[in-house]
Amino acid sequence: MKKKRKRPAKLCGANLVDGSGRTCGQPAGWGTGTGRGVCRKHGGNTRAHKVKAQREAAKEAVAVYGLPIEIDPADALLQEVWRTAGHIAFLAAEIQNTERANLALLRLYQSERVHMVRVCMAAIRAGIEERRVALAEHHGVMIAQVIRGILEEKGIADDADVPAMVRRHLTAIDGGKK
Ligand SMILES: [Zn+2]
Repeated sequence: MKKKRKRPAKLCGANLVDGSGRTCGQPAGWGTGTGRGVCRKHGGNTRAHKVKAQREAAKEAVAVYGLPIEIDPADALLQEVWRTAGHIAFLAAEIQNTERANLALLRLYQSERVHMVRVCMAAIRAGIEERRVALAEHHGVMIAQVIRGILEEKGIADDADVPAMVRRHLTAIDGGKK
């Protein structure tokens, strides 16, 4: 049987200047609100440190959510916000329009909403202003309305494959990559 090893908590780790050769044992980012890097006694509240911590948070979120890595992490997070918002808006309309309760659709809708909250939180933690996050969300909803309008006019909006198709196509948009 494998022994359970305690994962070492992340620490500040700055070198102490008392000549002891030890490093600071405060939790990482202690007193800075970032939860990472050096503590507030060791420069954690400087602007440079905060920017670095936010960039790290964005990079981590990009990895967690499998977002494109070839673009700026903050942009990738904002893209995921509008993409997810669009998908949620699409699913919400779909659920409203379907007469029978569709469990698969509801499950998808719920999991997308959970994802949305997480991605928004990751974006805020990465230092992206709430105003920009809200704007990205708004864009996603608009895109979903356009897609839905077209599919409805063609009479295919309620096809079972459509929700997954919409997600796929939203993912394919590169969000104005330069
Ligand atoms: Zn420290």
